[in-house]
Amino acid sequence: MEGELTKAACKYKMFENPMIEGVKWIDRYALTIDKFWIKLPEYMRNTFVTFAVLLMASTIKGDWIAIVVHLVKHINGTSAVIGEQLNGSMYRTNATGDVNWSDILEFMSLQGLPHFLIWAIVGSFLIYFSAGGFIHWYYYTNRRDRPHEWKCQPEKFLSPELELHEVFVGSFSLLLMSCLSGILSCYAINNGKLLTLYYRWDEYGWWWFVAQIIVIFIYQDYLTYWLHRIYHWPWLYKNFHKLHHTYKQPTAFSVTAIHPIEILHVQLTMLLPIFVIPTHWVAFYIVEIYTYAHGILNHSGVNIKSFWWQPWQPDTMFHDNHHQYFHVNFGFNIFIWDVLHGTYRRKDRVYSEDIFFGKGKSFNEVSSKELLNDLAERKKENPRAYRENVNEYNINDVLVNTLKNKRLASCDSKNE
Ligand SMILES: [Zn+2]
Ligand SMILES: [Zn+2]
Repeated sequence: MEGELTKAACKYKMFENPMIEGVKWIDRYALTIDKFWIKLPEYMRNTFVTFAVLLMASTIKGDWIAIVVHLVKHINGTSAVIGEQLNGSMYRTNATGDVNWSDILEFMSLQGLPHFLIWAIVGSFLIYFSAGGFIHWYYYTNRRDRPHEWKCQPEKFLSPELELHEVFVGSFSLLLMSCLSGILSCYAINNGKLLTLYYRWDEYGWWWFVAQIIVIFIYQDYLTYWLHRIYHWPWLYKNFHKLHHTYKQPTAFSVTAIHPIEILHVQLTMLLPIFVIPTHWVAFYIVEIYTYAHGILNHSGVNIKSFWWQPWQPDTMFHDNHHQYFHVNFGFNIFIWDVLHGTYRRKDRVYSEDIFFGKGKSFNEVSSKELLNDLAERKKENPRAYRENVNEYNINDVLVNTLKNKRLASCDSKNE
């Protein structure tokens, strides 16, 4: 044990080397967590990591408070009591001013809103930093000395400045999403009539309970494929989505580091089913947690393969490729959309931030410089992140031949 701890101490000392980039704020607690961590059996470590991912998934869009509220409604049947009580204690005495906030909130069925907002924001930030910090430590600090074992792009780490940047942008998204979730939760407990959520398991039959999970999952994934693809159109990309692509080597914190307008737009579209079709609250949040948990993993930069029971789910390398090559692989949790629409990354195409619309360019359409850049990018990929540990995009020979031909062609034209 002593030996292992000394080894850990040496490992963290290594990060003091300014040449090695990394998140410094989590390194401060690294040795303390390590002491506890190495005593745990393997299955408990895996349980911890899975739990942290699910906890973070329940938080990145502020959903945790909505889950609590719907659970309370589920247990109590229906309740306008909580909001009424909060509202009474805070606002009933406020009768001196011209504006009576109590009446306005009551008119909008938002009694007790400030309480919901405070809880939503404080809770979200506590979970975001504790669960997110732990996931970050688990991969980026604990295993930093052996990136070839686990990282999609093992030779490149996000700089500490960009790490901080993504936490700031992600925190603003968290604030925005927590407010939205707080408002919806407050409305749901006070009235909720505009919502089409239901609480009795068999109210629309068991078949619909199961079917809606599939319907909502496909609806959200296909719609976000298109929204994502549209945000890659040149004007929208440069003004909104480029911010998310600041992180060429994404980490778990990149998942919500998105322009506020874009994240709000996407989130409102994802919430549409609970205003339109009969949706059991549990079914809806099963889909949300699945989607967000995979969002975190897809951005983690860690080589994680999908399970046998998820034939629709791409490996994490799929979205890591999106960050490395920009305008390609627009889908999230169903790779079929990209295959159907011809935006799935192809071996014989070159992709870069300047090549828009998801189809790339053929080797002959790009300059020698662009080809060389592409070759260099391909070399940075970890073959272990692909099935059978073979980089399926490794076509050095073809590229080298094309380059030779290009050089020959340019020599010929000079000679003429
Ligand atoms: Zn994108
Ligand atoms: Zn992304």
